[in-house]
Amino acid sequence: MKLIDAHVHLSDTEYIGHVEELIDDAKNTGIVALITNSLDFRTCQNDVALAEKYPGLVYPALGIHPWNVNVLKENELEETITFIEKQRDIAKAIGEIGLDYKYETIWEKQIFVFDKMLHLAETLELPVIIHSRGTTDKIVEILPSYRLKHVLLHWFSHPMNALYKAMDNGYYITEGPPVSYSNGIREVVENVPLTNFLTETDGPVTYWKSPYNGQMTKPAFIRNVVVAVAEIKKMQVEEVAEQIKKNFEIFFNIKLN
Ligand SMILES: [Zn+2]
Repeated sequence: MKLIDAHVHLSDTEYIGHVEELIDDAKNTGIVALITNSLDFRTCQNDVALAEKYPGLVYPALGIHPWNVNVLKENELEETITFIEKQRDIAKAIGEIGLDYKYETIWEKQIFVFDKMLHLAETLELPVIIHSRGTTDKIVEILPSYRLKHVLLHWFSHPMNALYKAMDNGYYITEGPPVSYSNGIREVVENVPLTNFLTETDGPVTYWKSPYNGQMTKPAFIRNVVVAVAEIKKMQVEEVAEQIKKNFEIFFNIKLN
């Protein structure tokens, strides 16, 4: 069975010293592609280096995360944009970008950076991976004014009417380990067509509930996620995995073996 982790942060400081073991583990559990999402200039550079080190397995999504907007160094935004432009051939998406309501004190700045990232995606003709905690309604409202190749709303949780709007627009969503235990996330999976769905771990985010119990998040968790999705969709696990692989190839324009 070929599995996909469409959203992980291999360059996060929490993973320092663990990447090799994570990659080995991913290969051993059938992961055939990982999208490593950047957060700032440093992680953009590091994610590109990882993609070069693990060709055909690790692919970078480059961008500035809303949580990092407030700690951007002088010129970091411009430097990051210039860097990403030069990586057009290796970058597979602009991400992780978006808006987060918990950081509303820097709302204007978040909007400013998000807009820059969306314009970059338009120029480079790359898909976008979006963080939308508490802001999904707003994001679904503003995205149609950009000419975007594909849109992925990562860890979509609510409200359901925004999910229906997103599906009408042909957007994709990713879900991860909470599919096994969160009723809200299970409801989302029930309502999303499998053709618009991808799996993620969002590592190094830690999952405290069973069966994960706070252990270091690793791509191997994807197998559990696919099993839980198959149960919700009343389908064979292999069938679900195969469809997710197809979705991945379409969304990121990557041909997998
Ligand atoms: Zn993330």
